[in-house]
Amino acid sequence: MSDPLEVLQRVWGYPAFRGPQEAIVRHVIAGGSGLVLMPTGGGKSLCYQVPGLCRPGLAVVVSPLIALMDDQVEALLQLGVRAAALHSGLEAGRGAALWSRLGRGELDLLYVSPERLLGGDLLEQLAALGGPEPLALFAIDEAHCVSQWGHDFRPDYIQLGVLAERFPAVPRLALTATADPRTRAEIIERLGLQAGEVFLASFDRPNIRYLLRAKDQPGRQLLAFLAEHRGEAGIVYARSRSRVDRLAAELRAAGFDAVAYHAGLSTEQRSAALQRFRNDAAVVVVATIAFGMGIDKPDVRFVAHVDLPKSLEAYYQETGRAGRDGLPAVAWMVHGPGDVPQLRRFIDDSGAGEEQKRIEHGKLEALIAYSEAAGCRRQVLLRHFGEQLAEPCGNCDGCLEPKALVDVSVAAQKLLSAVYRTGQRFGAAHVVDVLLGGSSERIRQLGHDQLSVHGIGGDLDRGQWRTLVRQLSGLGYLVPVPGGKGGLQFGPDELVRPLLRGEARLELPLPPPQKEQRRARGGTGASGGGGVLAAAATAGAVDGDLVEALRRWRREQASAQGVPPYVVFHDRTLLELAERRPASLAELGGVSGIGAAKLERYGEVLLAVLRGEVFTTSCREETSRTSSL
Ligand code: ADP
Ligand code: ZN
Repeated sequence: MSDPLEVLQRVWGYPAFRGPQEAIVRHVIAGGSGLVLMPTGGGKSLCYQVPGLCRPGLAVVVSPLIALMDDQVEALLQLGVRAAALHSGLEAGRGAALWSRLGRGELDLLYVSPERLLGGDLLEQLAALGGPEPLALFAIDEAHCVSQWGHDFRPDYIQLGVLAERFPAVPRLALTATADPRTRAEIIERLGLQAGEVFLASFDRPNIRYLLRAKDQPGRQLLAFLAEHRGEAGIVYARSRSRVDRLAAELRAAGFDAVAYHAGLSTEQRSAALQRFRNDAAVVVVATIAFGMGIDKPDVRFVAHVDLPKSLEAYYQETGRAGRDGLPAVAWMVHGPGDVPQLRRFIDDSGAGEEQKRIEHGKLEALIAYSEAAGCRRQVLLRHFGEQLAEPCGNCDGCLEPKALVDVSVAAQKLLSAVYRTGQRFGAAHVVDVLLGGSSERIRQLGHDQLSVHGIGGDLDRGQWRTLVRQLSGLGYLVPVPGGKGGLQFGPDELVRPLLRGEARLELPLPPPQKEQRRARGGTGASGGGGVLAAAATAGAVDGDLVEALRRWRREQASAQGVPPYVVFHDRTLLELAERRPASLAELGGVSGIGAAKLERYGEVLLAVLRGEVFTTSCREETSRTSSL
């Protein structure tokens, strides 16, 4: 078996593994199974692709996304890897050719849809493959599809459990970007991975800048934000189809290359939109959440939300589509209290069981807490996924644009006392009611009108108290009662006690009282970001003309081969080329993203482009397509 690091460097041209990749790869090569939890863009594919090349036999990759499969295969072929895809979209002739290659052991990686794997007699054929070790591994991508708790359940996935029974000796690796414990447990159970290992990568996406804005005039605010991102590809999420259509039209009127995407459009319209998004550098897709799965475009530079997503999980996943290539990207969102009642109603009217509704309400509450958080957003986001970020991140609006702080020590003491006196089992609404001296039937029945904390909260209004509850939750002072129906209890003693005793002070940005809010709404504020390649050029870090020449060359290569530009080279590789200006094939081989196959295929011509000897696109084409890659 070959050494995985050597394979990574030779085939992919990457100098080193990232995070837990190496441990995972070595575990699978040694014959182990397991579950990989890694955020979008974290590098899940290499976790099975590298062992697929290192172990003898065929690696079978199950993926629910046909469009994505073809992209992955295309990218692998460019690297000189013998890969193919088998799915329902394939013409019959190609299927037959594929079979004979399979039989001759001429494939390293085979991508299949779950229907295709389980539907016909593919399993029998795999079992009948000749040779001492015919199968290298099974990879099950998007493994959360097996979970009924997840957001993307696929009935076919459940049957993938048979792989454990039929091929007990073949390693199985399940991969997902969905980390919540419930989904995780379900994947392990259904796919029979109890004896395997769980690999958990950090869910931080440091290159994504989180910027939140108070919602005022969302359409205008969006235009102001987009004005700073002209020439870049991005996604704008809105809740309803009509809003998507309207926003897309507004953006086009403002000169943006915008397309709408939602479930109300025809299949042709949707695939045309998808195609444009994949192949052009500067397309803005305005979409409902129907748009997302199956997008693995690495150079999405921004994701904007003009409506609140339905949960913090959904927000994380949707914003996670930005910056897969690791270069700077922005997650921008406008939010306001007006979004919340509608989302609550959606959940109440969803027809789900009570238990499920309670979970959904909890997830929405976490999102509201995030949007109202004081200080670093990333710390709140990661805490929700069970991670601690020791220092504020310096790359979110909380860190970059600190808000005016109010001393809330006394208010927080009152709130914590009310939680304590009512027995650490009630939710925010009830506790705030008690603080404000409510005299509802329930309060009287519970005797909470007799408590010393009853009615001591007149200095803040209801909205401010609710915000304070969320902020204290976001900071860990209050935590949900385990298994409780939205009840709150104290967080860690060492955090809560000093505050209650008046030994620690707490300063937070509290919103003005409700009555003043309508008057006091401000402007849109500044936001960061900027075109990665363009920004590097303007900053003088690289030669702008050279970057332009490289992009032009890449665009021409991509369109000649009918593949998206990033399949040829990622932005990151172009940037490194322009920075380092390699002058020989050996130097070129040291650039990240240039492996042996690409070096052989593109090496000479790239050197010529770098020497300024290649002039690609004609002037006419140039003026008509200036903004695309
Ligand atoms: P995921 O499937 O987890 O969303 P991908 O497998 O698509 O992520 O990887 C995201 C990007 O990171 C890809 O462009 C990939 O080539 C790149 N990448 C992954 N691992 C490495 C590595 N070790 N070194 C350099 N780039 C990497
Ligand atoms: Zn921060």
